[in-house]
Parts: sequence; structure tokens; C-alpha cells
Amino acid sequence: MSDTGTQVNIEASMPTVSPKTSAAEKAPTPSRDVIFEVRDVTVSYGSRPAIKNVTLDVFEHEITALIGPSGCGKSTFIRTFNRMNDLIPSARLEGTVTYRGADLYGRDVDPVEVRRRVGMVFQKPNPFPKSIYDNIAFGPRVNGFKGNLDEVVEGSLRKAALWDEVKGKLRDGAYGLSGGQQQRLCIARAIAVDPEVILMDEPCSALDPIATGRIEDLMRELQERFTIIIVTHNMQQAARVSDRTAFFTTEVESEENDFRSGKLVEYDLTETVFKNPSDPRTEDYVTGRFG
Ligand code: ADP
Repeated sequence: MSDTGTQVNIEASMPTVSPKTSAAEKAPTPSRDVIFEVRDVTVSYGSRPAIKNVTLDVFEHEITALIGPSGCGKSTFIRTFNRMNDLIPSARLEGTVTYRGADLYGRDVDPVEVRRRVGMVFQKPNPFPKSIYDNIAFGPRVNGFKGNLDEVVEGSLRKAALWDEVKGKLRDGAYGLSGGQQQRLCIARAIAVDPEVILMDEPCSALDPIATGRIEDLMRELQERFTIIIVTHNMQQAARVSDRTAFFTTEVESEENDFRSGKLVEYDLTETVFKNPSDPRTEDYVTGRFG
């Protein structure tokens, strides 16, 4: 138990770092299929590594949270899963990322197809300046979808728990929705192209607590159909919603210019990371002593 008085109140079910137990006593890992294998991945901007030598597996139908102090490379890392870093000219990836066993960065892999299968939702809701309907229909139309668009729009809005609120005003502009509704619209837009994975980069940071709660509930519903990876600076959120948590930190690379790069410190079941971490840096972070 921390005696610093700065303990973060993670919620009753997962509040504190308890006395250490051996690895053998930890909860067994549920047997789920691996969807992404990340092996020794370093992502650099120019010559500067933002994250170094990351190795981990992401499991299907889990919610994986990426946490750590600002600048430790969480956003850089989440963008490796749908090749969004390809759009940043200075970004370079070393190591391998496989998706269902295939090299995600292989020569014959089309990054546009990767982004269809691995959708993304950003920090600030970013609907298009179009109607609610056209926001959802946009992706299927671009992909040449020939089926029933009305069904896709309704189905996507239902999965994003927004249908009941918007079914009477599908032709209204998306900007008329509240921030929380706009974020669920963006989730529906991602769902409309039938992805397998949804990446969420701090999806609730612009939302109030009620809208945040709705997104968190929605994530739990979505995980039955999708695999979710979320960056969050909110540790309570990671503890509430995720199955597994990766804790990153920054390490000084060069004392001369205080250059830092991100490292993966610990990756485990969320309960273990918050209640019984194996690295003292994780313990300091989750108890609020650092960061
Ligand atoms: P986090 O999401 O944990 O705050 P980021 O991935 O945004 O961390 O940033 C990690 C490091 O990479 C930081 O030093 C940041 O300045 C740098 N960085 C991020 N994006 C770029 C970019 N587009 N060009 C150059 N450096 C970048």
C-alpha cells in the first residue's frame, strides 16, 4: 500500500498496488488468438527514435490500453497498427509487425486496405462537414459498395449506440451533434467499412464525464465484434475498460541535449499492471508517484 498520500483512485475494484506475489500466483492469461505480433519495433522521426525495441502481442477481442507519460510514444506506437506513420515523411519503422501472421509492412500490402481493416478514431471528434447519413456512407461509397447503404448506415449507427438519438434526423449536418455524439458518429463511420480492429487515440479527452462513460460502455459492447487498442492518459479509464495494459515511459538517450525515447516497461493483464506490477517504474506511475 502506498504511503505517499498521492494514490490515484483507480476505482474500488482495482485501487492499489498490493504486496508482491510471484509470477506463478498471477491470474492465468485467458487463451485468445493473437491478432498483432510486434517484434523489436523502433519508430524514428528522422534519426531520433520515438519508441525503441517494442515487443508485444495484441489479442483478438481484447481491449488493449497504452498508457504512460506524455511524449513516451503512445500515439506513435498506435499508428504502427494501421500504417498511419507512413503518412509522416520523416517516420521510419524497424522491426516487424504482423497482422494475423502476415507482415503488415510487406511489399505487397496496400496501406489503404490495412486502414480499412484497422480503423481509427482520434482525440477530437472529426466528422466530415456532411450529413449524419453521408458521414457513415462515405467509406462504403469510396470502397465501391454496391449493397444496401441504408442498412449499412443503420447497422453502423446501432453498433455505435447512436441510432436511437439520430434516426429521425439522418439528413441533418453532423456538426449539430454534441461532442460525445460526434465521437460515436466517428466510431460508426469507422465501423461502416467493416473493420476488424479499431484504434482509439485518446478518444475521450475532449468529452465530459457522461459522454466519456457512454464511450467506455460502448467499447465493452464493441469488443465482442472488434479488437480495440486505446491510448489513454487517464489511468482510471485504462483500469475500467481494458483487458491488458502496456505501460511506456521515456528514457534519456543523450544527457547532452536531454533527448529521450519511449520504452515499453511492462505489458500484462490490466489487473496485474495496476495491482501487482512487476516493475517499480510501473508501480510509481500507477500509484501517482511519477508522471
Ligand atoms: P505520446 O502519444 O506518448 O505523447 P508521441 O508519440 O506523440 O507520444 O510522441 C513521441 C515522441 O515523438 C515525442 O518526442 C514527439 O515530439 C515525437 N513526435 C511525434 N510525432 C512526431 C512527428 N510527426 N514528427 C517528429 N517528431 C514527432
